Amino acid sequence: MEFSHDQRTLDLIDRVEAFVHERAILAERVLDEQLAATPGEWSFRPVVGELRDAARAEGLWNLFLPGERGAGLTNVQYAPLAERTGWSPRLAPVAFNCAAPDTGNMEVLADFGTPDQQAEWLEPLLAGDIRSSFCMTEPDVASSDATNIATRIRRDGDSYVITGRKWWSTGAMNPDAAIFIVMGQTDPDAERHRQQSMILVPRDTPGVRIIRPLTVFGYDDRDHGGHAEIAFDDVRVPAANLIAGEGEGFAIAQARLGPGRIHHCMRAIGMAERALSLVQERANARVAFGRPLAEQGVVREWVAESRIQVESLRLLVLKTAWLMDTVGNRRAMTEIQAIKIAVPRAVQQILDRAIQLFGAAGVSGDQPLAEMFAGARSLRLADGPDEVHLNALGRAELKAPRR
Ligand SMILES: Cc1cc2nc3c(=O)[nH]c(=O)nc-3n(C[C@H](O)[C@H](O)[C@H](O)COP(=O)(O)OP(=O)(O)OC[C@H]3O[C@@H](n4cnc5c(N)ncnc54)[C@H](O)[C@@H]3O)c2cc1C
Repeated sequence: MEFSHDQRTLDLIDRVEAFVHERAILAERVLDEQLAATPGEWSFRPVVGELRDAARAEGLWNLFLPGERGAGLTNVQYAPLAERTGWSPRLAPVAFNCAAPDTGNMEVLADFGTPDQQAEWLEPLLAGDIRSSFCMTEPDVASSDATNIATRIRRDGDSYVITGRKWWSTGAMNPDAAIFIVMGQTDPDAERHRQQSMILVPRDTPGVRIIRPLTVFGYDDRDHGGHAEIAFDDVRVPAANLIAGEGEGFAIAQARLGPGRIHHCMRAIGMAERALSLVQERANARVAFGRPLAEQGVVREWVAESRIQVESLRLLVLKTAWLMDTVGNRRAMTEIQAIKIAVPRAVQQILDRAIQLFGAAGVSGDQPLAEMFAGARSLRLADGPDEVHLNALGRAELKAPRR
């Protein structure tokens, strides 16, 4: 394994770090003010557009996407950059056009889309002209098992007709999310993993109805376009909108989630580093019972435990990135599952300690810790709950030949 950064990555780290610290973090307060001044408004607030313009002008754009269409970075090259964006999870990923769910949707279109689909939807997403949503999870079925998805996609002549209900469609409250990738059943009688397909549904298609925004621990995540519950009532789209082919939905979902999971973990490590830097400042400045918090044994223990977790998990994430680059996403599945379980869990713990150190300020909106905690906690569900990954990882471990 080779984890030293090449010159290109070192240059990008410097530029991304400067952008995050000198622009994104400073813009967080501005974003709060703009959100407060425009309740009920779901499109990007002006400060997000300004950051995006600046990042694009600096060439810090589509860093996540390998190949010619994106920045062409490997996972090992992208990992330290994504980590730095995690310092400002509300603004930095979106500023660089590297925010979920657009990233995963762009990967699906790049890997599985037809040239027409790519021209119509991938190009404007890459240019940052539109946003998108990924609609798999449903209120009425246990959606951690993708084979349960019950939305129907029926062929009717030159069209498909979609009927069902989705929720937790991240980004869909933003009116600029012009395209939804919807997963549904095309053939309930097919073999279990061939029943599902994915189809492109433009937001303005008749029958698409946004029912309500959901909240995460009370946060509406307006800066990410929120999370929507959506009804699809006899929504008719051209047959050419199907992605890859009937029965390919499950395979596309698996392919989509590999890179998405590692990106989440990289950013989560950045959140932990920001929490540790806030802790360092606070622990040295704040005095209780006659000495700085930094001199209390328990605080030192918390910080030491957190540092050990960050360092060991970063190595596991880098190993996973290296495996994805060298043997492919499929053969790196065990490690992808391991980091998806271990990183959000540890980062949640690190943020919890940081909140405790900050006292009541820690749970307030004056510090980023509470919102980051909500994000880390949610990550233990999004892109597959811990237990599903634990189950698969344990099964593979028990079957694997031992040396
Ligand atoms: C902030 C956030 C953003 C999200 N964004 C999106 C999005 O953009 N698009 C989208 O489609 N979805 C999204 N989701 C939904 C997310 O992917 C689902 O919540 C997740 O897949 C779990 O599905 P479920 O909620 O239906 O839970 P269920 O399937 O009902 O599972 C509930 C619980 O059962 C247990 N369980 C399930 N299976 C097993 C097993 N095999 N072994 C042991 N225990 C098990 C687990 O503890 C699990 O948490 C998002 C969720 C959150 C919180």
